[in-house]
Amino acid sequence: MSEHKFRTMGEQAGRRSWAEPWKIKMVEPLRMTTRAEREQAILEAGYNTFLLRSADVYIDLLTDSGTSAMSDRQWAGMMLGDEAYAGSVNYYHLEEAVQEFYGYKYLVPTHQGRGAEHLISQAVVKKGQYVPGNMYFTTTRLHQEMAGGIFVDVIIDEAHDPQNLHPFKGNIDLVKLENLFKEKGASNIAYVSLAGTVNMAGGQPVSMANVKDVRALCDRYGVKLYLDATRMVENSYFIQQREEGYGDKPVADILREFCSYTDGAWMSGKKDHLVNIGGWLAVNDWDLFEELRNLVVVYEGLHTYGGMAGRDMEAMAIGIRESVSDDHIRARIGQVLYLGQLLTDWGIPIVQPVGGHAIFLDARRFYPHIPQDEFPSQMLAAQLYLDSGIRSMERGIVSAGRDPQTGDHRRPKLELTRLTIPRRVYTEAHMDVVAESINEVYQKREQTKGLKMVYEPQYLRFFQARFEPIQ
Ligand SMILES: *Cc1c(COP(=O)(O)O)cnc(C)c1O
Repeated sequence: MSEHKFRTMGEQAGRRSWAEPWKIKMVEPLRMTTRAEREQAILEAGYNTFLLRSADVYIDLLTDSGTSAMSDRQWAGMMLGDEAYAGSVNYYHLEEAVQEFYGYKYLVPTHQGRGAEHLISQAVVKKGQYVPGNMYFTTTRLHQEMAGGIFVDVIIDEAHDPQNLHPFKGNIDLVKLENLFKEKGASNIAYVSLAGTVNMAGGQPVSMANVKDVRALCDRYGVKLYLDATRMVENSYFIQQREEGYGDKPVADILREFCSYTDGAWMSGKKDHLVNIGGWLAVNDWDLFEELRNLVVVYEGLHTYGGMAGRDMEAMAIGIRESVSDDHIRARIGQVLYLGQLLTDWGIPIVQPVGGHAIFLDARRFYPHIPQDEFPSQMLAAQLYLDSGIRSMERGIVSAGRDPQTGDHRRPKLELTRLTIPRRVYTEAHMDVVAESINEVYQKREQTKGLKMVYEPQYLRFFQARFEPIQ
């Protein structure tokens, strides 16, 4: 895969491309559908791409969660699953990998990221306490709220502006954070919830300088700092590329240094770790670990498997080692940048700078004539599916849900449609097809109208809500 597209012979002189650090051993055929089939499918799915059957999807960019291609080493590792109820050898391999690459002392395995979020929220959040975070993530905030916490967004203002080119739009605003500490008192802060490459902001990273400053501020007020490490490998690559002093450092070293400023982390292994299922929680404090180990038995499984099979833990232990390789992460993020560059060249409104795991179409600028209450990002995802069978997802007013106090929609500034790139799954040619389909939908934007919601679930409504087009 080339980082640069060379269009003239002159530009080819001295050209040095890089390519994916793997070759393909097994293929999975894709099914193409007709326009009529897709019209039927999206109608049945209530214009919600989460409700489509994957058999009706051509290129699936719904999520990078659990959709990675595993390596031959990981598949070999699956055969070494030690399915003992207690003390599986694979658990110890996983523990070793987390300790080596993330540096935390004590590991609690969970079935996936939200299992870990549930445990940490139940253990640490007291009713009425505030949980400041660098923008919200759906499941993270819900678990904090269900434990009685009140989420407060303390991300820098630049993060809410899809055209601002700040290199670290995931950073915490230290003034907002300190004001909250002062206003509410440190004892009313459960912990600071810091996420690497902030998903809802468009996959935007946090700088090393910022995590150091946040650590220092937390120390001054005696507040704990926990990390959502789900995409911290990708965050570490951006630090290597963008932050002074890190250009020569391996991604693995940057990851470990970043984690060293935090008191613990939760992880969805379904993202960075190149596996289809799995997660963990890791902390440095023994007493907290004891409590988490008690809780995990109730909700997930014994403390040496936490809802995973032995083979899942082995695949994840191997995936962790593969994920921190510089060649891997350059190819992974390089593919996202390739798609982003095509769309940018064609003048299609996307969140800039391009993030680590996905392209986010800016539906406010894509469909300026569709009001936010008529779900423009939801409609954009439906239109892309109708055009080519590509599946994306809404990240706007539907995902933001309702304010628990007022019951009204939360109306986020960012109204986005996300095209998430699975790791090691699609080729550059697939990215070309995706870009061309987006362009086609963009050319027809003025004819497109909004949606109305006809069914709304109580929790995480974006997963199952149903819509109808406004005539
Ligand atoms: C996916 C994700 C989670 C939740 O993890 P699951 O494995 O889906 O339960 C938490 N935080 C972030 C940033 C995520 O992307």
